Amino acid sequence: MKIALVGIGKIAVDQHVPSLAASSDWTLDATVSRSGSVDGVASYTDLDSLLADRPEIRVVSLCLPPVPRFDYAAKLLKAGRHVMLEKPPGATLAECDALTRLAEENGLSLYATWHSREAAKVGVAKAWLADKTLRSLRVTWKEDVRRWHPNQDWIWEPGGMGVFDPGINALSIVTEILPVDIHLQKATLEVPENRQTPIAADLQFYHPTGADVTAVLNWRHEGEQTWQIEAVTDQGTLSLLDGGARIVVDGVENALQDDNPLSGEYPRLYAKMAALVKQGTSDMDLRPMMHVSDALALGRRVAIDPFYD
Ligand code: NAP
Repeated sequence: MKIALVGIGKIAVDQHVPSLAASSDWTLDATVSRSGSVDGVASYTDLDSLLADRPEIRVVSLCLPPVPRFDYAAKLLKAGRHVMLEKPPGATLAECDALTRLAEENGLSLYATWHSREAAKVGVAKAWLADKTLRSLRVTWKEDVRRWHPNQDWIWEPGGMGVFDPGINALSIVTEILPVDIHLQKATLEVPENRQTPIAADLQFYHPTGADVTAVLNWRHEGEQTWQIEAVTDQGTLSLLDGGARIVVDGVENALQDDNPLSGEYPRLYAKMAALVKQGTSDMDLRPMMHVSDALALGRRVAIDPFYD
């Protein structure tokens, strides 16, 4: 199937373009970008030109930041195109619901991707946890924003989500591996006084059987970068490390093997998008985003020193 990519920025170049090039499902046939392009691929500088020129491209993948994404997605769905959304699927839950309705009304596939759910060990962690009683779960997501997001101003603007831009990846894994739904009860958000979004957050969740579920997100961590989820259960302790790429159960690494033949988070996302289009279905799981919205609604804000890139 032919596909177009919109927003040729960091993630498009790092992940989407190579994953599409390696895929047997897809041909990257056009890009839309105000400034970027991909060698050998037709490029447009605005979406209207793509829609007018290329009616045969039925599927479009959006790699824009969350705030501008709704207008692009809505226009594409109204124009009869299937749409794949980078995470987070929008700036607000209401606009994501509006996109879901538009996709349904027009009989199109819409996919809210969560790339971290496709990390190698997430599926086996979910299977392992399914029949255990959870006692506690702790997310530790500590990284250096200057290293991973240099000069990306949108992450500090309203809708940019700040530390929840990476933190939502952790929440996408937690909502995937836990067999029950949790909800946010309490949050503390540290917001640099010259910015609109948090640079650090502590979260506490309600769990239906009383397990202690917490998350520590920190975006100014210069030491060893940590993307870890530790779940203590009645039958042992499971740790997902490196964002879900590694798993340790009771101190033993690789006791559980992933049997998905396709490796790589983005190749798996594009394989799922191909399946959704072929089946005529959508996948819009908004739970990770709901927790972020709740943290921004309930969180106690603490103003801290200004942050400069
Ligand atoms: P980015 O490089 O800063 O921006 C991506 C592209 O979006 C830009 O090249 C720009 O495209 C377009 N864009 C930015 N603001 C726009 C606006 N107001 N209107 C229209 N287009 C605009 O961002 P990124 O790091 O690739 O992140 C994009 C999305 O991917 C985010 O939702 C992020 O959470 C997600 N993501 C990022 C990473 C990562 O490691 N960076 C990893 C996974 C997921 P043109 O100049 O090409 O028009």
